[in-house]
Amino acid sequence: MNMADVLTKTQRSYNMSMIKGKNTKPEQLLKLLLKKHGLKGFRLHYEITGKPDIVFLKNKIAVFIDGCFWHKCHLHFTKPTSNRAFWLKKIDSNVRRDKIVNTELKYKSWKIIRIWEHELKNQKIIKKKVIDKIKKWLKK
Ligand SMILES: [Zn+2]
Repeated sequence: MNMADVLTKTQRSYNMSMIKGKNTKPEQLLKLLLKKHGLKGFRLHYEITGKPDIVFLKNKIAVFIDGCFWHKCHLHFTKPTSNRAFWLKKIDSNVRRDKIVNTELKYKSWKIIRIWEHELKNQKIIKKKVIDKIKKWLKK
């Protein structure tokens, strides 16, 4: 199997899952998942730098869900077809801003978890990468 096959398969299942979950907002999916794993004490849309989707205030953990298009996901980002220069400039400035937000929050001793929108559609990946990480940090 070559890389092109893998990518096509990934994208195909991504597209399928997007159709299934199209009416569910990513932060709602994450909220459900956290509850399912017994994680409590988080808040949605807490007003700090970068407006993370979910924070665990006591433990200073900020969780961001980055949209595949707006934050240039390496798997699903496709160049816009119209007003290309305008959108690319906007998206690049999002990516730059993400880095600034990370630096600023780390400086204020926040722990940062960034999740791709597509990861929320794959429960296995999110469980491994996100739930375990949050659990580990909550224990500290
Ligand atoms: Zn993606």
